Amino acid sequence: MDCCVPKNISQVSPEENLRTNLCKECGKQAKAIQRVTIYHMLKRPFMHEIQDTTYFYCETMNCDVVYFSNETGQYFFQDQIRVPVGSKQGGHEKQLCYCFDYTMKNIEDEIENKGNSSAADDITAKVQAKLCACEIKNPAGRCCLGQVRAAVKEALVKHSEVKA
Ligand SMILES: [Zn+2]
Repeated sequence: MDCCVPKNISQVSPEENLRTNLCKECGKQAKAIQRVTIYHMLKRPFMHEIQDTTYFYCETMNCDVVYFSNETGQYFFQDQIRVPVGSKQGGHEKQLCYCFDYTMKNIEDEIENKGNSSAADDITAKVQAKLCACEIKNPAGRCCLGQVRAAVKEALVKHSEVKA
């Protein structure tokens, strides 16, 4: 395979076109992310570099890339982001909810003390009251509830294993 020979557009298969969503650092597929999120997440002066293109969000845990565009060749890394990126963090400090500040540790502590966590209910109520701002506060640019529910489940399993 000769990867360095430039192809003309008509030779690029739809399959290769899809590769615009592949992170070059980890090789995994990434999800498109709205630019409003990137504007709020990038530290200055990096937000001035944002262009009129589609950016993707790499969620791979051990990959340092957070946002990228293969079209412009731009890659933004964790140290260019204002907040710790939850999908890149492991362990207790992992930030799960950015709007109402829940970490893995908050959920584990609650389960330790009360046997269950009300995090998902609390977040749901606040979302319904339109108090969330996931688009600009969560580096993933979307609601955290799925992640929170998964974290509660995980913490509950760990808790029951410790007790057993
Ligand atoms: Zn990556």
